[in-house]
This record gives sequence, C-alpha cells and structure tokens, in this order.
Amino acid sequence: MQIATGIVAPHTSETWDTIVIGGGIAGISLAARLAADRTVCVVEKETGLAQHTTGKSVATFIQSYGNGVIHALNAASLEFFTDGRGDNGEALAKPLPFIYAANADTIGELQEIYDAAGPLARDMQFVDSAGAVEFSPLLRPEWTAGGLIDPHVFDIDVHALMQTFAATLRRCGGAIRTSTEVVAARREGDQWVVTDRSGAEHRARTVVDAAGAWADPVARLFGAAPRDIQPLRRSVFTLAIPGHLADSVVPMINAADESFYLKPETAQLLCSPADETPTTAADTRPDEFEIARALDAIGEATVVDARHVRTTWAGLRSFAPDRIPVVGFDDRVEGFFWYAGPGGYGIQTSPALSELGAAIFREDGARTANEFGVDPADISPSRASIIAAAGR
Ligand SMILES: Cc1cc2nc3c(=O)[nH]c(=O)nc-3n(C[C@H](O)[C@H](O)[C@H](O)COP(=O)(O)OP(=O)(O)OC[C@H]3O[C@@H](n4cnc5c(N)ncnc54)[C@H](O)[C@@H]3O)c2cc1C
Repeated sequence: MQIATGIVAPHTSETWDTIVIGGGIAGISLAARLAADRTVCVVEKETGLAQHTTGKSVATFIQSYGNGVIHALNAASLEFFTDGRGDNGEALAKPLPFIYAANADTIGELQEIYDAAGPLARDMQFVDSAGAVEFSPLLRPEWTAGGLIDPHVFDIDVHALMQTFAATLRRCGGAIRTSTEVVAARREGDQWVVTDRSGAEHRARTVVDAAGAWADPVARLFGAAPRDIQPLRRSVFTLAIPGHLADSVVPMINAADESFYLKPETAQLLCSPADETPTTAADTRPDEFEIARALDAIGEATVVDARHVRTTWAGLRSFAPDRIPVVGFDDRVEGFFWYAGPGGYGIQTSPALSELGAAIFREDGARTANEFGVDPADISPSRASIIAAAGR
C-alpha cells in the first residue's frame, strides 16, 4: 500500500508451511513440487523471476554434460524435455543437433568425454574429420580432426519452463512475492520469522535456500554454516551466422577442450569462452580477455566471422567444491533446507532434481533417488567433501 508520504508500508505478515528464497529455476521448480501438499511462498528480491543466472543461461539440455550425479539427473530429466508441454501447450524444448569438435591437438579429449558419459554414451557417435564437417558446415575442414555427436540435446524454452512451474505453484495455492529481499531471520518456537527489506515479516515452519549465488550469505542469516558455494562467472557474446548458412539448420558446437562453444539462436550464434572465474555474487561483468581468446579460437575452428561481436553478458554458475548440487536439511539448523549449487546444469536437471529435492524434503528421498540412480547422501549438505571444504 502506498502512503501519501511515498513510504511503502510493510506487507501484512503472512504465514506459510514453507518459504522458498529465490525466484530462479531452482526455487520455482522445487516450490511447484512442494506445493502439492503444503502452502508455499517463493520470495524473490528482484522485481521479477529469473533475473539472475536463470535469465542469463544459454538454455540447452546436453545429456552427456556434467559429472556422474549430473548424468543421472540428466537422464531422469530427458523425458520431461522430449515430451513436456508448457502451460501454453507449446513444447518446452526442441531437438538441437550437437557435436563436440576437436582438432589434431585435442582429438584425445573426445574419447575422454565419451568414457565419462558412461551408459549415456551408447547413443553417441564418433565421426572423422569429413563426417564432422558434413554434420556442421561451420567447421573448417583444415582445423577439424574429428567429432562426437550427442543425439540427446535440446534447446530449452526457459521462459515457458519457468511459467509452467510457476503456474503449477499457483494452481496449488502457492504464491510468489517479488521485490521481497530476505535480510534477517529468527526462530520463534517451531517457526522461522523471516524479515524482508521493507520490514515485513513472513512466517513458516521450514525455509528453503534456493538463492543461487547468494546461497551461502542467505544461509548465514539463518545461522547455518556456509557450504563454500562459489559463484563462477561465465561470459557470453553473440555473433552473426554466416550469410550462406542463415537458412540452414546449424548445429551447436562444443570444442572438445572447452575453449569455446557456440549455439544457434534466431539468426545469430550465442557463443562463450566457457570461462569459470571465481567471483562474488554481485559481479556479472563479461570477461573481455576471455571473450577475445574465444574469438580467436572460433576464428581458427570455424567459418564464422569472429570479428564483430554484437552483444555481451555474463552470469554466475554456482558450484559446491565437488560440483554436485547441495540438497537436504541442514544438520544443525532446524527447518532449514538447502537447494543450491546446481552449477552449469540447473535448467536441464530441474525436472528430476526438483522431484528428488521434494522427496528428500518429505523424507521420502530413498525411493525417488533409487529410481533416478542418485544416492541422497551424494547431494546432502552434510556430505564429507563439502563439510571438509567448509572447514567444519
Ligand atoms: C552463461 C551461462 C550459461 C548457462 N547455460 C546453461 C545451460 O545451457 N543449461 C543449463 O541447464 N544450465 C545452464 N546454466 C546454469 C543455470 O543457468 C543455473 O544452474 C541456474 O540458472 C541456477 O538457478 P538458481 O535458481 O539456482 O539461481 P538464480 O537464477 O540466480 O536464482 C537465485 C535467485 O535468488 C534470489 N535471491 C538471492 N538472495 C535473495 C534474498 N536474500 N532474498 C530473496 N531472493 C534472493 C536472486 O535474486 C535470484 O533471482 C548457465 C549459466 C550461465 C551463467
């Protein structure tokens, strides 16, 4: 309510079963799952959803991407993207041709990617230089020594995905409060009292930390020990698709040595140096040095004109020290649930990770984990690898 003086009055105090802090893909997807059997409110500090990492991604599902735990979550999420329809009836993702490409110096890395994919590698296909260039006419024949094609890659409609989870949440009676930054918290009896920047108080028995790059600072507000969740900056820039290929289906290319990747998107290419610079939650300036390096690499490997950058931006991929998500109740702080550290895979793993997260929240994690092939202990906030790194 706006008062004549221009001072915004605090919201009326609200009470929920669960408050989820963070309106990115992590918070919204988990909230949608939890809302089936409890009242849930998502609080987001910005004026809208997905204004931080979720809104800065390149929106791709790559089944072979990530480590063993992520592979299991990818596999368990695949059907959601192959068959899933958004709330508007449109497909949530569409197939995207994709190749890992290598030159003579990096050709050995294709085998490493294949081996790391474990059972997911069964549908992947090695191609020689000619096969790679035929698959992606962007590749220069004189640079290309070979490729590895992953057929399970999709271009995700992140906006539709967010809206679909948000609609499920609202249908179940849940709410989303934007412009609501959590700044303090205290425990009263069996409830958390969460104070936002306007001074309004929000009450709930349980709180979920889905605050992305701010997961550790938010945990501190609740007295929980940080888990060393480190934001790593990744830069993105756009280039024009070569004119002669403007009407063709242009595959996404990941350099086998991760020196660059590029993905077609409506008449342009989203490109990245695949940089991972440790930084703070507030810093999202693109790294000009890394972009220059990637432009050189793209110029050598492809026929793309890598001189004229159209736009640049950067986002933060937040990882626990072992690069595995952090999901579960804190072992020392009652009613505080971690849902953080999805790293570079938070969108593509969101269908399965949110289902597993909700099951762990309900203390029914073992069944879903078994189905997905993920041990809840591997993603627990109390696992040895991150407790040790956090110095506890
Ligand atoms: C360049 C780039 C490319 C990527 N490409 C892909 C890809 O192709 N596929 C894929 O799956 N993943 C990709 N990712 C990773 C993916 O974007 C992330 O894993 C995911 O978006 C993380 O979601 P999140 O909800 O944890 O974080 P965020 O989207 O950052 O959401 C956290 C939210 O918490 C809010 N918040 C923080 N503190 C408070 C507070 N005190 N009170 C209230 N709200 C608060 C923030 O405002 C923010 O909106 C990419 C990331 C980057 C940067």
